Amino acid sequence: MSLKRRLDYVAARHLARRPAKIRLDRAIISFSFDDFPKSAATTGARIMDDRGVRATFYASAGNMGRTVDGLRQYDAEDLIRLSDAGHEIGCHTATHARLTKASPARIRGEYASNRDLLRALGVSQTLRTHAYPYGDVSPDLKREAARWFGASRGIWPGLNVGTIDLAALRCVSLEPHILAERSAHEWIDLAVRRNAWLIFLTHDVAKDHSPFGVDPAALARIVDHALTAGANVLPVADALDRAASKAAAADVGLPSAPVLKFSPR
Ligand SMILES: [Zn+2]
Repeated sequence: MSLKRRLDYVAARHLARRPAKIRLDRAIISFSFDDFPKSAATTGARIMDDRGVRATFYASAGNMGRTVDGLRQYDAEDLIRLSDAGHEIGCHTATHARLTKASPARIRGEYASNRDLLRALGVSQTLRTHAYPYGDVSPDLKREAARWFGASRGIWPGLNVGTIDLAALRCVSLEPHILAERSAHEWIDLAVRRNAWLIFLTHDVAKDHSPFGVDPAALARIVDHALTAGANVLPVADALDRAASKAAAADVGLPSAPVLKFSPR
C-alpha cells in the first residue's frame, strides 16, 4: 500500500465518523457474506437456517448470475429465498465499485441503481445497511453512505463496543491471515466477555473455498460456538435495532448527539 493510500485510509478511519454509544447486556454476533457467491446463498444460508439464525448478504446487483474470479455468484431465486427466510439483503453497490475517488453523483447512482435492480428482482426489504466494496473508504464516501444507510461496514478488524462508528463498523474477516493472531472462537469469547457486537465477514462457503471464503464445517463450528457462548446471532440491521433499543433503555447521555435513529431510504 502506498504512503498516500495509507494516509487516506487512516484519515477515513478518524474522519466523518457517526459515533453512537451502545451498551448491550449480551454480545451480538453478526455473520455477513459479501458480493455474494452462490455457495454463500446455499451452503452458508443452510448452516444459519439449520440453527434458526439469520445472516446479512451484501449484494452487488451487477454480480447476479455471473462468475467472478472463478466463483459462481447468486441468482435471482437465491435473493428471494434468502429474503423470504428472513435474512438481510444489504447494499454492496451496483457494480462492486471502488468509490473513494468517485463524485457524489456517481456514488448516489451506485446506491440507487443497486436498490432499484434488487427491487426489480423481487427484494421487497429496504437495504438498511451497506458494506464498502474492498473496504475502501474515504471521508466523503462515509458521509454519502451515511445519507443512505443506517450503518456501513468497513473492514477494520475489531469489536464494536462502547462508542462505535456507524459509518465504518468494524468487522473480522474469516480469512486465515486475519485469524492468525486470534481465532474466530477467541474473537467470540472476547465479544461475550465485553458484551460487544462482533461482525464476521466472509464470501464463499465451500470445502475448496477461495482465499476469501470459509470451509462449511468451520463456519458451522463458529456459529455453534457463538450460540453456545450465549451470544445473540443477528443480521447487521437487526443488531442495530437491538443496540438502539438498548441505548434508549439505558438512557445513555450522548454528548455528541444520539445517532441511533435510522431513516434509511
Ligand atoms: Zn465485495
